[in-house]
Amino acid sequence: MAGGWGCPHEVDDRCTRLKNLPCDPGMKGCVLFGRFVFADDAKNVRRKEKAAEEIEAFAKRKEEDSS
Ligand code: SF4
Repeated sequence: MAGGWGCPHEVDDRCTRLKNLPCDPGMKGCVLFGRFVFADDAKNVRRKEKAAEEIEAFAKRKEEDSS
């Protein structure tokens, strides 16, 4: 991977974590998947799911507190 950050799973632009696929930061299975926001919105699916789950849990707690 080019850039300032070095992933410990990347060797010669390949991902040793994901069957030696070309390194594509944020792809499904990547250590970054669901943890950061990417310019490619297709990589943000899990992050959006987690945000929706947190909002739902917050609303549920609030509802329980008020009853
Ligand atoms: S795809 Fe993700 S886990 Fe794999 S080498 Fe690249 S940055 Fe690391």
